[in-house]
Amino acid sequence: MSATLTAPNLLDLDLAGYESLAVSLGARPFHGRNLFKWVHKHGAFAFDAMTDLPKGLRVALAETVAIRMPQIVEEHRAPDGTTKWALELADGQRIETVAIPEGRRLTLCLSSQVGCALNCAFCATARQGFNRNLSVAEIIGQVWQAVRRLGRVPTNAVMMGMGEPLANFESVVKAMAIMQDDLAYMLAKHRVTLSTSGLVPQIYRLREVSQVSLAVSLHAPTDDLRDLLVPINRKYPLAELIPACQHYVAGDPRRKVTWEYVMLDGVNDSLAQAKQLIRLLEGVHSKVNLIPFNPFPGSAFRTSPPERIAAFQARLMRSGIITLVRKTRGDAVSAACGQLVGRVADRTGRTAVKLALGR
Ligand code: SAH
Repeated sequence: MSATLTAPNLLDLDLAGYESLAVSLGARPFHGRNLFKWVHKHGAFAFDAMTDLPKGLRVALAETVAIRMPQIVEEHRAPDGTTKWALELADGQRIETVAIPEGRRLTLCLSSQVGCALNCAFCATARQGFNRNLSVAEIIGQVWQAVRRLGRVPTNAVMMGMGEPLANFESVVKAMAIMQDDLAYMLAKHRVTLSTSGLVPQIYRLREVSQVSLAVSLHAPTDDLRDLLVPINRKYPLAELIPACQHYVAGDPRRKVTWEYVMLDGVNDSLAQAKQLIRLLEGVHSKVNLIPFNPFPGSAFRTSPPERIAAFQARLMRSGIITLVRKTRGDAVSAACGQLVGRVADRTGRTAVKLALGR
């Protein structure tokens, strides 16, 4: 088999890519669709076994393309059933993927980058620095691996693992389209959620090409505080972020922006701040997810006490905003929000600074 390291990787293609590949190899577009289905729905690797493809196409595929994806190198299962995998990429770096079962639901939390460049104050991934974007194959490969490992197709996918998905726009959009394709994983569009720290121009772009659900890491009701917690706010302040998100859900009364708000003891959890948040979100179809802060080694914050989280939630609910407190899942294996780290060859110099500081 000549499936060498340089052969084009089938997992990098979307459906249209399979169709044109089939045509370029002398077959028909529907053969490309069959191939797509073999790869994603059946998880098949061996072209020879793909009996509804013409023999000539099978031979040509074996000679010209390969199927490559990240490999599971570690698996950790928490008592609550949450599973975290470390996946190794071809260059030796590692990312993390999490599967969260809940009743009939199975949610996959997927990474979009090796590390993250955004440096949010309360996030473990930020400490790792940033190396590069993931390819389509490395994103959809996380789904492929999880499905085979669990023997079950997820009901939901959230781009909430390592990285800022909108900073890897093209690959993330392609991978999310594969997740939704009927010939692949068949996820309903509203069951695929992209979470962003707030890259405003890309939120507008996303609206043009995708209908996935949008979650935004808000974490503060004012620019002063958000500048500190989510530094990208200095570039895209709330006065730009909120209208972009409002625009994203406009036109369909059933759609809502999900605002993620990590509860940090004494930092952003007062009733006065709840009120500011209510004012900020006025007129935006919203749902708020309060996330108890998940600690990690060296983190400077503490999570808000449960009573304060409940009071904050009650205040928002009273003003008519649907507000949920996100259950902490997978904490036992450091698989909870903001705890994913992987192995990142940092290119930002951030980790070097930390070493110099002796942390
Ligand atoms: N970069 C994207 C995708 C990550 S989603 C984004 O920022 O939205 C992961 C979510 O967990 C984000 O809302 C993030 O702000 C939140 N988070 C990060 N660190 C956390 C921590 N230590 N505890 C709880 N939530 C955290």
